[in-house]
Amino acid sequence: MLEAPHVLVGIALAEKAGHPLLAIPLALGSHFVLDMLPHWNPHLNTEMRKHGKISTMTRRIIFVDSVISAATIAYFTYRALPDTFLAATILLSAFAAIFPDLMEAPYFFFKKKTNFLEKSIKFQKAIQTDAGPIFGILTQIAVSAVSLWWILK
Ligand SMILES: [Zn+2]
Repeated sequence: MLEAPHVLVGIALAEKAGHPLLAIPLALGSHFVLDMLPHWNPHLNTEMRKHGKISTMTRRIIFVDSVISAATIAYFTYRALPDTFLAATILLSAFAAIFPDLMEAPYFFFKKKTNFLEKSIKFQKAIQTDAGPIFGILTQIAVSAVSLWWILK
C-alpha cells in the first residue's frame, strides 16, 4: 500500500487511542492489516529483480507519496499543538504506521541487504493483496477518506 493511507490511519489511531502506549502498537499493527486489503502500488521487488533498479515512474510515485505523507504528518502534528503530548503521539504513531516500509527503504535504494530485511520483505510480500491500478487506488482513497473523516469528526 502507498504510504499516505498508512499515515492517515496512524494519525486517526493516535487521535482516538488517547495514549501513545496504545496508539503506537496499534499503528504498527495497522500497517499489516491495511496491506491485506486489496490495493495497488509499484512493485519494488519485481522491478529490482527484473531490471536491477527501480524505474523512474516508480521513483516519481514514491516521491509524490512521500511528500503527501510528510505534509500530512506535519499538518496533523502541528494542529495538535499546544498539546505536545498529543502532537508527539501523532508523530510517533504516523511513523509506526509506515515503519515496516521505511525500514526496507535502504534495501531498495542503497541495495543494503541483511538477513532480517530480506525476511521482512518476504513477509510483507506474502501478506499483500494486490489489485489492479484502478480498484487498487480506489480502496486506498476509501481508507484515506474514512481515516480523515474519523480524525476530523
Ligand atoms: Zn507494507
